Amino acid sequence: MDATHPAHNVVIVGAGQAGGTLAGLLRQQKFAGRMVLCAAEPVPPYHRPPLSKKFGAEDFLQWLRPESFYRDNDIELRLDDPVTRVNRLARTVSTASGADFPYAYLVLATGASPRTLPVAGNDLQGVLGLRTLTDARVLRESVLAGARLAIVGGGYVGLEVAAAARAHGCSVTVIEREDRVLARVASPELSRILTEFHTARGTRIIAGAEVAELLGAAGRIRGVRLTDTTEIDCDLVVVGIGAIPADGLARAADIHCRSGIVVDELARTSDPHILAIGDVTQRLHATLGRLVRLESIPSAVEQAKQAAAVIMGTPVPAHEVPWFWSDQFDLKMKMAGIYDPATAAVLRGDPDTGAFSLFHLTPEGVALSVETVNAAADFMAGKKFIGTRAQLDRGALADPGTALRDVALDGPSTPVAAGARPHTRRI
Ligand code: NAP
Repeated sequence: MDATHPAHNVVIVGAGQAGGTLAGLLRQQKFAGRMVLCAAEPVPPYHRPPLSKKFGAEDFLQWLRPESFYRDNDIELRLDDPVTRVNRLARTVSTASGADFPYAYLVLATGASPRTLPVAGNDLQGVLGLRTLTDARVLRESVLAGARLAIVGGGYVGLEVAAAARAHGCSVTVIEREDRVLARVASPELSRILTEFHTARGTRIIAGAEVAELLGAAGRIRGVRLTDTTEIDCDLVVVGIGAIPADGLARAADIHCRSGIVVDELARTSDPHILAIGDVTQRLHATLGRLVRLESIPSAVEQAKQAAAVIMGTPVPAHEVPWFWSDQFDLKMKMAGIYDPATAAVLRGDPDTGAFSLFHLTPEGVALSVETVNAAADFMAGKKFIGTRAQLDRGALADPGTALRDVALDGPSTPVAAGARPHTRRI
Protein backbone atom coordinates (compact mmCIF):
# COMPACT_ATOMS: atom_id res chain seq x y z
CA MET A 1 0.00 0.00 0.00
CA ASP A 2 1.36 3.40 -0.96
CA ALA A 3 1.24 5.86 1.95
CA THR A 4 1.27 8.80 -0.42
CA HIS A 5 -1.92 7.60 -2.11
CA PRO A 6 -4.96 9.62 -1.01
CA ALA A 7 -7.02 6.46 -0.45
CA HIS A 8 -4.64 5.51 2.34
CA ASN A 9 -6.69 6.72 5.32
CA VAL A 10 -5.31 6.89 8.83
CA VAL A 11 -7.57 7.27 11.84
CA ILE A 12 -5.88 8.07 15.14
CA VAL A 13 -7.98 7.49 18.24
CA GLY A 14 -6.80 9.63 21.13
CA ALA A 15 -5.27 13.07 20.91
CA GLY A 16 -2.78 12.97 23.78
CA GLN A 17 0.98 13.14 23.43
CA ALA A 18 1.18 9.88 21.44
CA GLY A 19 -1.68 10.56 19.00
CA GLY A 20 -0.87 14.24 18.60
CA THR A 21 2.81 13.51 17.93
CA LEU A 22 1.99 10.86 15.33
CA ALA A 23 -0.36 13.20 13.43
CA GLY A 24 2.43 15.77 13.16
CA LEU A 25 5.07 13.19 12.22
CA LEU A 26 2.97 11.75 9.39
CA ARG A 27 2.47 15.10 7.71
CA GLN A 28 6.14 15.97 8.28
CA GLN A 29 6.99 12.75 6.45
CA LYS A 30 4.67 13.74 3.56
CA PHE A 31 1.84 11.34 4.29
CA ALA A 32 -0.69 12.41 1.67
CA GLY A 33 -3.78 10.43 2.68
CA ARG A 34 -6.76 11.49 4.77
CA MET A 35 -6.03 11.76 8.47
CA VAL A 36 -8.64 11.88 11.23
CA LEU A 37 -7.59 12.56 14.83
CA CYS A 38 -10.39 11.74 17.30
CA ALA A 39 -10.26 13.41 20.72
CA ALA A 40 -12.48 12.56 23.68
CA GLU A 41 -11.67 15.90 25.30
CA PRO A 42 -13.14 19.17 23.99
CA VAL A 43 -9.72 20.79 23.47
CA PRO A 44 -6.82 20.21 21.04
CA PRO A 45 -3.82 18.14 22.23
CA TYR A 46 -1.85 19.71 25.07
CA HIS A 47 1.24 18.88 27.12
CA ARG A 48 0.37 16.93 30.26
CA PRO A 49 3.62 17.30 32.29
CA PRO A 50 2.81 20.88 33.41
CA LEU A 51 -0.50 19.66 34.91
CA SER A 52 1.26 18.08 37.89
CA LYS A 53 4.43 20.21 37.88
CA LYS A 54 3.35 23.75 37.03
CA PHE A 55 -0.38 23.99 37.75
CA GLY A 56 0.30 27.02 39.96
CA ALA A 57 2.00 28.93 37.14
CA GLU A 58 0.24 31.13 34.58
CA ASP A 59 1.59 29.16 31.61
CA PHE A 60 0.57 25.66 32.71
CA LEU A 61 -1.63 25.27 29.62
CA GLN A 62 0.73 24.48 26.75
CA TRP A 63 -0.73 23.30 23.45
CA LEU A 64 1.14 20.53 21.66
CA ARG A 65 0.74 22.51 18.41
CA PRO A 66 -0.88 25.83 17.56
CA GLU A 67 -4.57 25.44 16.70
CA SER A 68 -3.90 26.44 13.07
CA PHE A 69 -1.54 23.47 12.70
CA TYR A 70 -4.38 20.97 12.24
CA ARG A 71 -6.16 23.09 9.64
CA ASP A 72 -2.94 23.96 7.80
CA ASN A 73 -1.91 20.30 7.69
CA ASP A 74 -5.29 18.92 6.72
CA ILE A 75 -5.71 16.94 9.91
CA GLU A 76 -9.39 16.41 10.74
CA LEU A 77 -9.35 17.03 14.46
CA ARG A 78 -12.64 15.84 15.98
CA LEU A 79 -12.95 17.26 19.46
CA ASP A 80 -15.27 15.90 22.12
CA ASP A 81 -16.20 12.97 19.88
CA PRO A 82 -14.79 9.74 21.34
CA VAL A 83 -14.65 6.62 19.21
CA THR A 84 -17.18 4.12 20.52
CA ARG A 85 -16.62 1.13 18.25
CA VAL A 86 -14.07 -0.44 15.96
CA ASN A 87 -15.45 -2.59 13.16
CA ARG A 88 -12.44 -4.64 12.09
CA LEU A 89 -14.27 -6.44 9.31
CA ALA A 90 -15.45 -3.26 7.57
CA ARG A 91 -12.31 -1.39 8.73
CA THR A 92 -14.27 1.54 10.09
CA VAL A 93 -14.63 3.29 13.43
CA SER A 94 -17.79 4.90 14.79
CA THR A 95 -17.81 7.92 17.07
CA ALA A 96 -20.19 9.02 19.82
CA SER A 97 -21.73 11.63 17.52
CA GLY A 98 -22.64 8.91 15.00
CA ALA A 99 -19.91 9.54 12.44
CA ASP A 100 -18.14 6.61 10.72
CA PHE A 101 -14.59 6.76 9.37
CA PRO A 102 -12.92 4.16 7.16
CA TYR A 103 -9.27 3.33 7.77
CA ALA A 104 -6.38 1.61 6.10
CA TYR A 105 -4.48 2.01 9.34
CA LEU A 106 -6.11 2.58 12.70
CA VAL A 107 -3.88 3.83 15.51
CA LEU A 108 -5.16 3.42 19.06
CA ALA A 109 -3.62 6.04 21.34
CA THR A 110 -6.29 6.03 24.02
CA GLY A 111 -3.98 6.46 27.02
CA ALA A 112 -4.86 5.54 30.57
CA SER A 113 -7.41 6.65 33.16
CA PRO A 114 -6.58 7.48 36.77
CA ARG A 115 -7.43 4.69 39.19
CA THR A 116 -10.16 5.70 41.63
CA LEU A 117 -9.76 5.19 45.35
CA PRO A 118 -12.13 2.35 46.32
CA VAL A 119 -13.35 3.76 49.64
CA ALA A 120 -16.47 5.48 50.97
CA GLY A 121 -16.50 9.21 50.26
CA ASN A 122 -14.60 9.01 46.96
CA ASP A 123 -17.46 10.87 45.26
CA LEU A 124 -17.31 13.89 47.59
CA GLN A 125 -16.68 17.30 46.11
CA GLY A 126 -12.99 18.13 46.36
CA VAL A 127 -11.76 14.60 45.61
CA LEU A 128 -9.72 14.83 42.46
CA GLY A 129 -7.81 12.61 40.08
CA LEU A 130 -5.22 14.40 37.93
CA ARG A 131 -5.17 13.61 34.24
CA THR A 132 -6.93 16.36 32.32
CA LEU A 133 -6.77 20.10 31.93
CA THR A 134 -10.07 20.36 33.79
CA ASP A 135 -8.59 18.48 36.78
CA ALA A 136 -5.55 20.76 36.77
CA ARG A 137 -7.72 23.88 36.73
CA VAL A 138 -9.60 22.71 39.84
CA LEU A 139 -6.29 21.91 41.53
CA ARG A 140 -4.88 25.31 40.57
CA GLU A 141 -7.85 27.21 42.02
CA SER A 142 -7.70 25.27 45.29
CA VAL A 143 -3.94 25.70 45.67
CA LEU A 144 -4.06 29.41 44.90
CA ALA A 145 -6.81 29.69 47.54
CA GLY A 146 -4.45 28.07 50.09
CA ALA A 147 -6.22 24.71 50.44
CA ARG A 148 -4.88 22.04 52.78
CA LEU A 149 -4.02 19.08 50.55
CA ALA A 150 -4.09 15.38 51.29
CA ILE A 151 -2.46 13.47 48.46
CA VAL A 152 -3.18 9.76 48.22
CA GLY A 153 -0.31 7.99 46.44
CA GLY A 154 3.37 8.86 46.58
CA GLY A 155 4.11 8.28 42.89
CA TYR A 156 5.17 10.95 40.39
CA VAL A 157 1.75 12.62 40.45
CA GLY A 158 1.75 12.72 44.25
CA LEU A 159 5.27 14.06 44.71
CA GLU A 160 5.14 16.58 41.87
CA VAL A 161 1.82 17.96 43.13
CA ALA A 162 3.18 18.00 46.69
CA ALA A 163 6.25 20.02 45.66
CA ALA A 164 4.28 22.56 43.63
CA ALA A 165 1.61 22.95 46.34
CA ARG A 166 4.26 23.45 49.06
CA ALA A 167 5.93 26.07 46.90
CA HIS A 168 2.59 27.92 47.09
CA GLY A 169 2.55 27.57 50.87
CA CYS A 170 -0.20 24.93 51.15
CA SER A 171 -0.15 22.38 53.92
CA VAL A 172 0.48 18.97 52.29
CA THR A 173 0.23 15.39 53.51
CA VAL A 174 1.18 12.49 51.24
CA ILE A 175 -0.32 9.09 52.09
CA GLU A 176 1.45 6.12 50.47
CA ARG A 177 0.42 2.49 50.76
CA GLU A 178 3.88 1.04 50.12
CA ASP A 179 6.63 1.41 52.71
CA ARG A 180 8.30 4.12 50.60
CA VAL A 181 7.39 6.76 48.01
CA LEU A 182 8.00 5.99 44.32
CA ALA A 183 8.16 2.30 45.25
CA ARG A 184 7.03 1.20 41.79
CA VAL A 185 9.49 3.28 39.79
CA ALA A 186 12.54 4.32 41.83
CA SER A 187 15.29 2.74 43.89
CA PRO A 188 15.02 2.66 47.71
CA GLU A 189 18.02 5.02 47.84
CA LEU A 190 16.27 7.69 45.74
CA SER A 191 13.00 7.20 47.67
CA ARG A 192 14.81 7.85 50.95
CA ILE A 193 16.61 10.97 49.66
CA LEU A 194 13.38 12.38 48.20
CA THR A 195 11.42 11.64 51.37
CA GLU A 196 14.01 13.62 53.39
CA PHE A 197 13.98 16.42 50.82
CA HIS A 198 10.18 16.79 50.83
CA THR A 199 9.95 16.43 54.60
CA ALA A 200 12.57 19.15 55.09
CA ARG A 201 10.36 21.43 52.99
CA GLY A 202 7.33 20.89 55.17
CA THR A 203 5.45 18.01 53.50
CA ARG A 204 4.22 15.30 55.82
CA ILE A 205 4.79 11.88 54.27
CA ILE A 206 2.99 8.89 55.76
CA ALA A 207 4.18 5.64 54.18
CA GLY A 208 2.78 2.15 54.77
CA ALA A 209 -0.66 3.68 55.29
CA GLU A 210 -4.03 2.66 53.91
CA VAL A 211 -6.98 5.03 53.48
CA ALA A 212 -10.12 3.69 55.19
CA GLU A 213 -12.55 6.48 54.33
CA LEU A 214 -12.82 9.97 52.95
CA LEU A 215 -14.76 12.15 55.38
CA GLY A 216 -17.23 14.79 54.22
CA ALA A 217 -19.37 17.61 55.50
CA ALA A 218 -22.29 18.88 53.40
CA GLY A 219 -21.07 16.86 50.42
CA ARG A 220 -17.53 18.28 50.50
CA ILE A 221 -14.30 16.65 51.60
CA ARG A 222 -13.12 17.59 55.08
CA GLY A 223 -10.65 14.84 55.92
CA VAL A 224 -9.10 11.43 55.39
CA ARG A 225 -9.30 8.58 57.86
CA LEU A 226 -6.60 5.91 57.72
CA THR A 227 -7.11 2.27 58.71
CA ASP A 228 -5.11 2.89 61.92
CA THR A 229 -7.80 5.56 62.71
CA THR A 230 -5.45 8.54 62.14
CA GLU A 231 -7.45 11.47 60.73
CA ILE A 232 -5.99 14.13 58.44
CA ASP A 233 -7.96 17.34 57.98
CA CYS A 234 -7.96 18.69 54.43
CA ASP A 235 -9.87 20.79 51.88
CA LEU A 236 -8.80 18.82 48.81
CA VAL A 237 -7.79 15.22 48.15
CA VAL A 238 -5.64 14.51 45.11
CA VAL A 239 -5.70 10.84 44.21
CA GLY A 240 -2.56 9.71 42.36
CA ILE A 241 -2.65 5.95 42.80
CA GLY A 242 -1.78 4.90 39.28
CA ALA A 243 -3.54 4.68 35.95
CA ILE A 244 -5.41 1.91 34.15
CA PRO A 245 -4.83 1.48 30.40
CA ALA A 246 -7.87 2.54 28.38
CA ASP A 247 -7.95 -0.64 26.29
CA GLY A 248 -11.75 -1.11 26.29
CA LEU A 249 -12.17 -0.37 22.56
CA ALA A 250 -9.44 -2.85 21.69
CA ARG A 251 -10.80 -5.55 23.97
CA ALA A 252 -14.31 -5.10 22.54
CA ALA A 253 -12.79 -5.54 19.06
CA ASP A 254 -11.00 -8.73 20.18
CA ILE A 255 -7.49 -7.32 19.76
CA HIS A 256 -4.92 -9.05 21.97
CA CYS A 257 -4.72 -7.22 25.31
CA ARG A 258 -3.08 -7.99 28.65
CA SER A 259 -3.57 -5.04 30.98
CA GLY A 260 -3.07 -2.85 27.94
CA ILE A 261 -2.90 -3.48 24.19
CA VAL A 262 -0.06 -5.86 23.41
CA VAL A 263 2.21 -4.48 20.68
CA ASP A 264 5.49 -5.55 19.13
CA GLU A 265 8.64 -3.46 18.66
CA LEU A 266 6.90 -1.60 15.83
CA ALA A 267 3.68 -0.71 17.70
CA ARG A 268 1.77 -3.39 15.77
CA THR A 269 -1.17 -5.10 17.47
CA SER A 270 -2.58 -8.57 16.72
CA ASP A 271 -4.52 -6.97 13.80
CA PRO A 272 -2.18 -5.99 10.93
CA HIS A 273 -4.26 -2.87 10.17
CA ILE A 274 -4.24 -1.63 13.75
CA LEU A 275 -1.33 -0.05 15.61
CA ALA A 276 -1.30 1.14 19.22
CA ILE A 277 0.98 3.68 20.91
CA GLY A 278 1.44 5.41 24.26
CA ASP A 279 0.25 4.65 27.78
CA VAL A 280 -2.37 2.14 26.58
CA THR A 281 0.24 -0.32 25.30
CA GLN A 282 2.05 -3.28 26.75
CA ARG A 283 5.05 -3.00 24.49
CA LEU A 284 7.69 -5.51 23.62
CA HIS A 285 10.77 -3.51 24.45
CA ALA A 286 13.93 -4.23 22.50
CA THR A 287 16.43 -3.20 25.18
CA LEU A 288 14.49 -4.93 27.99
CA GLY A 289 13.49 -8.00 25.96
CA ARG A 290 10.05 -8.26 27.56
CA LEU A 291 6.58 -6.75 27.63
CA VAL A 292 6.40 -3.57 29.64
CA ARG A 293 3.94 -0.72 30.08
CA LEU A 294 5.98 2.47 29.97
CA GLU A 295 3.86 5.44 30.96
CA SER A 296 6.09 8.23 29.80
CA ILE A 297 6.36 10.86 27.11
CA PRO A 298 9.65 9.58 25.66
CA SER A 299 8.03 6.15 25.20
CA ALA A 300 4.92 7.66 23.56
CA VAL A 301 7.09 9.67 21.16
CA GLU A 302 9.27 6.64 20.37
CA GLN A 303 6.19 4.57 19.54
CA ALA A 304 4.75 7.41 17.44
CA LYS A 305 7.97 7.23 15.37
CA GLN A 306 7.56 3.45 15.06
CA ALA A 307 3.94 3.78 13.91
CA ALA A 308 4.93 6.47 11.37
CA ALA A 309 7.65 4.15 10.03
CA VAL A 310 5.16 1.30 9.59
CA ILE A 311 2.57 3.52 7.88
CA MET A 312 5.12 5.20 5.62
CA GLY A 313 7.14 2.04 4.98
CA THR A 314 10.35 3.77 6.04
CA PRO A 315 13.23 2.24 8.08
CA VAL A 316 12.56 1.54 11.74
CA PRO A 317 13.98 4.21 14.04
CA ALA A 318 16.71 3.16 16.51
CA HIS A 319 15.48 1.65 19.78
CA GLU A 320 15.73 3.95 22.74
CA VAL A 321 16.63 3.20 26.32
CA PRO A 322 13.48 4.05 28.34
CA TRP A 323 13.76 7.31 30.21
CA PHE A 324 11.66 9.60 32.40
CA TRP A 325 11.94 12.96 34.02
CA SER A 326 10.39 14.68 36.98
CA ASP A 327 10.70 18.15 38.49
CA GLN A 328 10.21 18.54 42.22
CA PHE A 329 11.13 21.89 43.84
CA ASP A 330 14.48 22.79 42.26
CA LEU A 331 15.36 19.14 41.63
CA LYS A 332 15.52 18.27 37.95
CA MET A 333 15.45 14.50 37.89
CA LYS A 334 16.16 12.32 34.90
CA MET A 335 16.05 8.56 35.04
CA ALA A 336 17.06 6.02 32.38
CA GLY A 337 16.50 2.26 32.23
CA ILE A 338 14.20 0.33 34.56
CA TYR A 339 15.22 -0.12 38.18
CA ASP A 340 15.97 -3.75 39.06
CA PRO A 341 16.19 -4.65 42.77
CA ALA A 342 18.91 -7.22 41.95
CA THR A 343 21.33 -4.36 41.20
CA ALA A 344 23.50 -2.45 43.69
CA ALA A 345 23.67 1.35 43.77
CA VAL A 346 26.80 3.41 43.18
CA LEU A 347 26.42 7.00 44.34
CA ARG A 348 28.23 9.71 42.37
CA GLY A 349 28.13 13.17 43.89
CA ASP A 350 26.63 14.33 47.16
CA PRO A 351 22.84 14.49 47.74
CA ASP A 352 23.41 17.36 50.21
CA THR A 353 24.61 19.56 47.34
CA GLY A 354 21.41 18.85 45.39
CA ALA A 355 23.34 17.32 42.46
CA PHE A 356 24.08 13.59 42.38
CA SER A 357 23.43 10.33 40.54
CA LEU A 358 22.70 6.75 41.43
CA PHE A 359 23.99 4.15 38.99
CA HIS A 360 22.43 0.70 39.52
CA LEU A 361 24.88 -2.03 38.52
CA THR A 362 24.66 -5.79 38.14
CA PRO A 363 27.32 -7.85 39.97
CA GLU A 364 29.26 -7.77 36.68
CA GLY A 365 29.27 -3.96 36.72
CA VAL A 366 26.71 -3.39 33.95
CA ALA A 367 24.36 -0.45 34.57
CA LEU A 368 20.66 -1.35 34.20
CA SER A 369 19.35 2.00 35.34
CA VAL A 370 20.52 5.42 36.41
CA GLU A 371 18.77 8.07 38.47
CA THR A 372 20.18 11.57 38.23
CA VAL A 373 19.32 14.76 40.07
CA ASN A 374 20.54 18.05 38.61
CA ALA A 375 23.23 16.06 36.78
CA ALA A 376 22.51 16.23 33.04
CA ALA A 377 25.93 14.88 31.97
CA ASP A 378 25.57 11.83 34.23
CA PHE A 379 22.15 11.16 32.68
CA MET A 380 23.50 11.27 29.14
CA ALA A 381 26.45 9.02 30.01
CA GLY A 382 24.27 6.66 32.06
CA LYS A 383 21.75 6.25 29.25
CA LYS A 384 24.59 5.40 26.89
CA PHE A 385 26.13 2.91 29.33
CA ILE A 386 22.75 1.15 29.62
CA GLY A 387 22.30 1.02 25.85
CA THR A 388 25.79 -0.36 25.21
CA ARG A 389 25.88 -2.63 28.30
CA ALA A 390 29.28 -1.21 29.13
CA GLN A 391 31.05 -2.79 32.11
CA LEU A 392 31.86 -0.07 34.62
CA ASP A 393 34.50 0.38 37.31
CA ARG A 394 32.58 1.01 40.56
CA GLY A 395 35.39 2.94 42.25
CA ALA A 396 35.93 5.24 39.28
CA LEU A 397 32.17 5.79 38.92
CA ALA A 398 31.83 6.79 42.58
CA ASP A 399 34.65 9.33 42.21
CA PRO A 400 33.34 12.59 40.71
CA GLY A 401 36.99 13.45 39.99
CA THR A 402 37.13 10.68 37.38
CA ALA A 403 35.57 11.71 34.07
CA LEU A 404 32.66 9.52 32.97
CA ARG A 405 34.45 8.69 29.73
CA ASP A 406 37.06 6.91 31.86
CA VAL A 407 34.79 4.67 33.95
CA ALA A 408 34.09 1.92 31.38
CA LEU A 409 36.41 -1.07 31.90
CA ASP A 410 36.85 -2.47 28.38
CA GLY A 411 34.81 -0.03 26.41
CA PRO A 412 31.34 -0.89 25.22
CA SER A 413 30.19 -4.50 24.99
CA THR A 414 27.20 -6.01 23.13
CA PRO A 415 25.39 -2.88 21.95
CA VAL A 416 21.65 -3.26 22.45
CA ALA A 417 20.40 0.05 21.11
CA ALA A 418 20.49 -0.88 17.44
CA GLY A 419 20.58 1.70 14.68
CA ALA A 420 17.98 2.27 11.98
CA ARG A 421 17.27 -0.82 9.92
CA PRO A 422 14.69 -1.98 7.40
CA HIS A 423 11.64 -3.96 8.51
CA THR A 424 9.24 -6.38 6.98
CA ARG A 425 5.92 -4.75 6.22
CA ARG A 426 2.92 -6.77 7.25
CA ILE A 427 0.42 -5.02 5.02
P1 NAP B 1 2.12 5.56 40.22
O1 NAP B 1 3.45 6.01 39.75
O2 NAP B 1 1.67 4.19 39.90
O3 NAP B 1 2.15 5.73 41.81
C1 NAP B 1 1.01 5.51 42.56
C2 NAP B 1 1.43 5.11 43.95
O4 NAP B 1 0.25 5.11 44.77
C3 NAP B 1 2.02 3.72 44.02
O5 NAP B 1 3.14 3.71 44.85
C4 NAP B 1 0.87 2.92 44.63
O6 NAP B 1 1.28 1.82 45.39
C5 NAP B 1 0.24 3.94 45.55
N1 NAP B 1 -1.11 3.53 45.91
C6 NAP B 1 -1.97 2.74 45.22
N2 NAP B 1 -3.13 2.61 45.87
C7 NAP B 1 -3.00 3.34 47.00
C8 NAP B 1 -3.86 3.60 48.10
N3 NAP B 1 -5.08 3.07 48.16
N4 NAP B 1 -3.41 4.40 49.10
C9 NAP B 1 -2.17 4.93 49.04
N5 NAP B 1 -1.31 4.71 48.03
C10 NAP B 1 -1.72 3.93 47.04
O7 NAP B 1 0.97 6.51 39.69
P2 NAP B 1 0.69 8.09 39.67
O8 NAP B 1 1.68 8.84 40.49
O9 NAP B 1 -0.77 8.21 39.98
O10 NAP B 1 0.91 8.48 38.18
C11 NAP B 1 -0.01 8.05 37.19
C12 NAP B 1 0.71 7.83 35.88
O11 NAP B 1 1.18 9.05 35.36
C13 NAP B 1 1.91 6.95 36.13
O12 NAP B 1 2.02 6.08 35.07
C14 NAP B 1 3.06 7.91 36.13
O13 NAP B 1 4.25 7.30 35.69
C15 NAP B 1 2.57 8.99 35.16
N6 NAP B 1 3.20 10.26 35.51
C16 NAP B 1 4.50 10.40 35.18
C17 NAP B 1 5.15 11.54 35.52
C18 NAP B 1 6.59 11.67 35.16
O14 NAP B 1 7.08 10.86 34.36
N7 NAP B 1 7.28 12.64 35.69
C19 NAP B 1 4.50 12.56 36.21
C20 NAP B 1 3.17 12.39 36.54
C21 NAP B 1 2.53 11.22 36.18
P3 NAP B 1 1.01 0.31 44.84
O15 NAP B 1 2.19 0.03 43.98
O16 NAP B 1 0.93 -0.49 46.10
O17 NAP B 1 -0.28 0.30 44.06
